[in-house]
Amino acid sequence: MKRVLVMGGAGYIGSHTVQHLLNNGYEVVVADNLIYGHREAVDPRATFVRADLLEPASLAQVFKQYPVDAVVHFAAFAYVGESVTAPEKYYFNNVIGTINLLHAMLVHGVKKIVFSSTCATYGEPHYTPIDEKHPQNPINPYGRTKLMIEQIFADYRRAYGLKHIALRYFNAAGAAADGSIGESHTPETHLIPLVLQAIRGERPEISVFGTDYDTPDGTCVRDYIHVEDLALAHRLALEKLEEYSGCINLGTGLGSSVKEIIRAAEKVSGRACPVKYAPRRAGDPAQLFADNKKAQEILGWQPRYTDIAEIIRTAWNWEQNRRY
Ligand code: UDP
Repeated sequence: MKRVLVMGGAGYIGSHTVQHLLNNGYEVVVADNLIYGHREAVDPRATFVRADLLEPASLAQVFKQYPVDAVVHFAAFAYVGESVTAPEKYYFNNVIGTINLLHAMLVHGVKKIVFSSTCATYGEPHYTPIDEKHPQNPINPYGRTKLMIEQIFADYRRAYGLKHIALRYFNAAGAAADGSIGESHTPETHLIPLVLQAIRGERPEISVFGTDYDTPDGTCVRDYIHVEDLALAHRLALEKLEEYSGCINLGTGLGSSVKEIIRAAEKVSGRACPVKYAPRRAGDPAQLFADNKKAQEILGWQPRYTDIAEIIRTAWNWEQNRRY
């Protein structure tokens, strides 16, 4: 049996990946500092340890106590706006934290890592769909931290034989089909949960950031990828590390506009969403969607959820019965 350490396994995408790995015969150790993660999100079949990327002694202890074959690394701060006002927090946690993690891995002879990267490493798109050869010019510190880590991996591969796959996610969305876990951020900034919470009356309305973009209906277009499809890709990446290192996009290749998301959420819930039209949010490109051919070719991965209404249905189910 393979034993994997999931750093940040109490977070949104991490917790779904933990569940998927356990369902597929992996033994899973979850390490999380629980700053943003939820202890309740960690599958009880996993071993949980509290550890922090900025406390090297806590990392060393995890590797000493639990020998693992590979690491899946989700632990990061991920609020774009905050990364602009508090970049130090992001460079410390995301970049230095990952260097600490890699150090602990190398000391303990662990040379395989699957990493949460992001389409934010591309910055303003020059063309869509975005493939992995698209230039990387992130426009905020968050995106820069992820790009720096990708570059560090390449250096560590050459010098220390690190095997790495960085998965560049587009917009993660949805919840576990069985309703057991889902998305829960404090504060919440993502479109789909905000729309669903507005529908439920937990927020006064959803603000649509910009209606004058150069898109079919004037609102921004994004590629929403179901969190269980992301989880599957992490397992496939773990299984490919022996033969491949590099970066792979994870998106459906399809775009949905903000207005389309609101309409789909209204249909799924059968209720109206209160909407307010607001100015553009700084740093939002008009359209982002993935060319996902490389994920198909290298990982043999295909998204199972390609209908945005189905993705929203899982999120709606979670919003109505959430545990955390
Ligand atoms: N968005 C919006 N209102 C909100 C939150 C988001 O109109 O309250 C828009 C945002 O401008 C973007 C899309 O929804 O075009 C997705 O935003 P989100 O923050 O979920 O993800 P991002 O694409 O920024 O990673």
